[in-house]
Amino acid sequence: MSCGKVIPVQVALRARPLIAKEENEGCQTCLWFTPDEPQVTLGKDKAFTFDYVFSPNHNQQDVYESSAKKLIVSTFKGYNATVIAYGQTGSGKTHSMGGIYEASLSQDEEAMGIIPRIIRDLFEGIAERPEYTFKVTVSYLEIYNEDLIDLLVTTSQKQTLSIREELNGEIKIKGLKEVVVQSADATLHCLSEGARSRTTGATAMNDTSSRSHAIFTIHLEKNKKEDVNDHCIAKFHLVDLAGSERAKKTRAEGDRFKEGVNINRGLLALGNVISALGEDGQKRPHIPYRDSKLTRLLQDSLGGNSHTLMVACVSPADSNMEETLNTLRYADRARKI
Ligand code: ADP
Ligand code: MG
Repeated sequence: MSCGKVIPVQVALRARPLIAKEENEGCQTCLWFTPDEPQVTLGKDKAFTFDYVFSPNHNQQDVYESSAKKLIVSTFKGYNATVIAYGQTGSGKTHSMGGIYEASLSQDEEAMGIIPRIIRDLFEGIAERPEYTFKVTVSYLEIYNEDLIDLLVTTSQKQTLSIREELNGEIKIKGLKEVVVQSADATLHCLSEGARSRTTGATAMNDTSSRSHAIFTIHLEKNKKEDVNDHCIAKFHLVDLAGSERAKKTRAEGDRFKEGVNINRGLLALGNVISALGEDGQKRPHIPYRDSKLTRLLQDSLGGNSHTLMVACVSPADSNMEETLNTLRYADRARKI
């Protein structure tokens, strides 16, 4: 029996509205959206089609309900899932993934990004399955200059983290803190604590931009109460990538330049892994997971039976046209599957 083709990677394009700074500088919109089609056109004639296209008129709920939400079903069946936000600094990655970290779930529903919505629905899913017991743990780390940093421990307690592959192919991070969480609010609390300790460095592009990849992971273990054989585990990775802009544009020098090089190593490797996964079975080339820490860490959650959603974020402003085109091309390559 043919199982049909598994679609390992789906790509959503999200354009934020012009922000005040762009409006004040007299920027014009350079993106056009085709009604009722997942298509976007940059300038006069550069048209791209994705699995989903969200214009500035789509809100957080629209984005979540139509794209990321369905990954939760897979998680309850034991498949790993990954949501990755890609784009230049200031394009809306953190807004799309997080939105409010500080608030509890009941406040400001619209502001909530993908991560808090996943957390809420995951715990709702647990409540709807009383015949099972669940164990939920979270971890939160960042990759900065190819170093792994645990965001859930204070600096004085930090251990060196290393990536290890188990015999069954599972990726484990040695030394990483995993916190057991009993509720959505407790999970959000971990998220906001970790977000606070993220490394940020000033650049000419945006002085609060993060120069690191941040990975928040929810581990779900499911056991049927009456049947010890009915058991599964799954990981849900939520990844807020570092800005994809070219090092030269941020006038990076010295340490900053080294960051730029390493950041791009992860993004380059991710693009290569995703496009290699798109090749058909027999023709499938070697998948270069080992080219960066980012791809190594996501190895058991990209491809195979895992489900991945890339949210490619762009600014609609003509002043960002070059970087927007780069993002559209990167996302397009990820989707050529
Ligand atoms: P990034 O994480 O990619 O650097 P941010 O998520 O910090 O970008 O977004 C940059 C700015 O744009 C922030 O002020 C954010 O609030 C705003 N923004 C991003 N996306 C949207 C959106 N869809 N609607 C309204 N404002 C947005
Ligand atoms: Mg950000």
